[in-house]
Amino acid sequence: MSEMLKQYGEVVGFHAMDSLMVIADMLRGKKIVHVNSTKEGGGVAEILSSMIPLSKELGLDVSWEVVEGNPDFFACTKTLHNSLQGMPGGLPERQIEAYVETNRTNAAKLNDVLEDADYVFIHDPQPAPLLGYFPNRKGKWIWRCHIDVSSPNRSVWRFVKKHVEGYDASIFSLPDFAQPLPHPQYLITPSIDPLSEKNIALHKSEITKTYGELGIPMDKPVILQVSRFDRFKDPLGVIESYRIAREHVDIRLVLAGGGATDDPESGEVLARVQEAAAGDPDIHVLLLPADAHRTINALQSGAAVVMQKSTKEGFGLTVTEGLWKKKPVIGGDVGGIRLQIINRFNGFRVRSPEGAAIRIRYLLTHKWKRERMGVNARQYVLENFLITGQLRRYLSLLIALNSSGGEWERWL
Ligand code: UDP
Repeated sequence: MSEMLKQYGEVVGFHAMDSLMVIADMLRGKKIVHVNSTKEGGGVAEILSSMIPLSKELGLDVSWEVVEGNPDFFACTKTLHNSLQGMPGGLPERQIEAYVETNRTNAAKLNDVLEDADYVFIHDPQPAPLLGYFPNRKGKWIWRCHIDVSSPNRSVWRFVKKHVEGYDASIFSLPDFAQPLPHPQYLITPSIDPLSEKNIALHKSEITKTYGELGIPMDKPVILQVSRFDRFKDPLGVIESYRIAREHVDIRLVLAGGGATDDPESGEVLARVQEAAAGDPDIHVLLLPADAHRTINALQSGAAVVMQKSTKEGFGLTVTEGLWKKKPVIGGDVGGIRLQIINRFNGFRVRSPEGAAIRIRYLLTHKWKRERMGVNARQYVLENFLITGQLRRYLSLLIALNSSGGEWERWL
């Protein structure tokens, strides 16, 4: 076993690593390709950044391709994303044209890689139409949907459905997200990498130093939300919760985020957040570079409470990251957050700024409870949401697809 695999073994157990190696061996020589729309920013890029090196370490022939697009394309995919998460309205014709045209040019560019790949994972709606340009494809193609499609805008779903129904299978994070599609659907939850810069244990001195460098005094408990500046992450709702909680407990609020290269709306949301935070020295709005993984780790490790007050959420890796650092997490009662937060066990699910404020106050005034929930939180992630488990499920799915399911589906 290589040094890297041993390190994973020390966290997840050597038995788990042995079974992962056996499964990976069965796919040796098969060409696996992942395609998404950004190298950095957001959960998909975060997962692939860890999954690709781990897969390679296991001897798999795997690569990661990113579709390139112009502003019209990303405007379209952002509208698709918002609409699939329930936003009303339709797609402007110009955006549809950019969506289809961008996928056509990317298909030509990726032809050599995708045509003869044995397995292709297409992540989210952005590159979904690629499939249509590969009528002679050799391999199995899987559409991996990471977003909260529990109640999509129906007309936009019908449009996306046309592009995804030809896939051999699709993967969703939650049963609530499954859709009527003419192929097998699998449920696999996302995960975090315990060995990444974002999640390794940091020394207390590094945490203090990072807070100091960011100009955040550690004189009172910090409530933290890390998120892209996106309307569904509800940063304004977080500020409201903080304002209500503050009437009872002395706290600081840190909202840390950055843009993803495929997200054209973040500037507008950030401006509204800055406006709402203006004049309050205890609110810190941080715009971080895309590679600030260690900084985010330090922020999460030094926080008293982590929040993710989303109103829609595919999964919410920031929840997983907070839980892993032994923080009880207060999260919106939606999507993938429901899978991760068990009320009173490792955090609280909330439906309003008032609800969040009550939970902030509770956690800050019940230190022993906060600590106990923090211990539960880490254990829960260890058992359910680490990258080794997710990769095992992905690989088992590939084997199942080529052997008509059966025995292999037991591993999913
Ligand atoms: N993230 C980051 N920098 C930021 C904001 C977020 O590195 O400025 C990371 C965050 O730590 C997490 C991922 O991006 O790993 C966000 O994933 P999540 O599932 O929470 O949300 P998504 O952005 O995919 O909707």
